Amino acid sequence: MSLTEQMTPDSSTYVHIQGKLAQTFSPNTLCKEWVIEWLAKNGYEKKALRITGCGRKAIALQCANGHQKRVRMTCHLEICPTCGEKRSLAHRKRYTRALDRLLWAPVLGYMVFTLPKEVSDSLPSKAELSKIEKEAVKIVKDNFNTPGCMVRAHLMGNEIEKLHIHVNVLFPIIDTNGTGRVSKETLDTLRKQWTEIVNKQFNLSVKMTNVFYKFDTNHRKMKHKIKYVTRAVVVAEKFLSLSNEAKHWYLSLSGWHNTRWYGKLANCKYKDYLKERGIDHTANREQDIALAKQCPVCSSKFRYIEVIPCGDIDRSQFRQIERDVWVDRVIFAVMMNKAGPPSAGTVKENKSKSKSVSLKKGRLPPQKYKNLTLFETMDMKP
Ligand SMILES: [Zn+2]
Ligand SMILES: [Zn+2]
Repeated sequence: MSLTEQMTPDSSTYVHIQGKLAQTFSPNTLCKEWVIEWLAKNGYEKKALRITGCGRKAIALQCANGHQKRVRMTCHLEICPTCGEKRSLAHRKRYTRALDRLLWAPVLGYMVFTLPKEVSDSLPSKAELSKIEKEAVKIVKDNFNTPGCMVRAHLMGNEIEKLHIHVNVLFPIIDTNGTGRVSKETLDTLRKQWTEIVNKQFNLSVKMTNVFYKFDTNHRKMKHKIKYVTRAVVVAEKFLSLSNEAKHWYLSLSGWHNTRWYGKLANCKYKDYLKERGIDHTANREQDIALAKQCPVCSSKFRYIEVIPCGDIDRSQFRQIERDVWVDRVIFAVMMNKAGPPSAGTVKENKSKSKSVSLKKGRLPPQKYKNLTLFETMDMKP
């Protein structure tokens, strides 16, 4: 039996980096076991069960014209080695949602408000984190011409073992003739304002805090920022590296919404706001087959049928087009067609030949796979 055949259905790296399978499979599985073991031993049985069952079942969906897809159900916990991965369903959900609300911006502003080490060490409560986030939003609102923003706290930096809480804010900047440039005085003011707020809220006397500002006008760079900010941060390895006290603190934040939207981009307002500006607020979500609510063949809405074990998906009817999604033959054919570059005549002939080869193998060639999911590779560095 080959290594590929021995893989379990929820082996997370299977499709993405087939070539690196041998190196990446074991650590992930081990991490998963360690996380589950720690959770079970420390009174978090429900979470342990969620991670244990992550990816074993799928939702069956069907559109009004009978086209069907199956999407894997995952636990969405960032300490789950599968859900904490870049490009996991959880990450894609946050990412496409943010793209739909931010990518239209002529200028995308990005601010990082860092909290001093003392604050991270004090393990702030949910209420304290929410309050300080709101203050960061207020600073952005007061200093930039923005209709609203997305806020997401990263609780750790690149280092393992220690917390490093910082608040990320992404915001469209409008009516500034296409630039997000600000004066040094403004940056100094931002830094001063943040320092005062942090000192006041946490009873500190820090001289100056770290505040970072950058803006982008290029879509590729904007996407990169959005992917970076929306990624999972306290992933399995990092969680395991924390002290027990910090682990308990992290789990106590459960239920706290770490990604929040404010102003005209708030959940209850953004649809109207974007509609007024002629922006399709579902465009990016609909391009991702795992998340799309509309059938790519006939555009009618997918409806829930049932939850089934992934092992029960009928392989004679469905094609697994990526780790977490299976589609029926009609959807598959339409997607293959859309994914290919526009070509004519003999070139088209060649294309269809290569398609039939990949169909026989039951897997898509890597290039096609990339096109299908429309979710580019994400090698992000802070
Ligand atoms: Zn999971
Ligand atoms: Zn359909």
